[in-house]
Amino acid sequence: MENKKKNSNIHCTVKQCEYNMGTEDYCSLDMVKIGTHEANPTVPECTDCNSFVKRSGCCG
Ligand code: SF4
Repeated sequence: MENKKKNSNIHCTVKQCEYNMGTEDYCSLDMVKIGTHEANPTVPECTDCNSFVKRSGCCG
């Protein structure tokens, strides 16, 4: 059984991530690194969580 600690300061709905609480829409990391894949980001979709790691057994 994993023992993740919910970080109430990082709300995240990406259930496919190893660090997501899964049972709740929160991250379990103490901090995350956010970045962008755009030269000039203009909308939320331009940004990424660079701390994302695919959950084991998830997503093929
Ligand atoms: S590492 Fe990023 S994508 Fe993964 S749960 Fe935390 S905030 Fe969400």
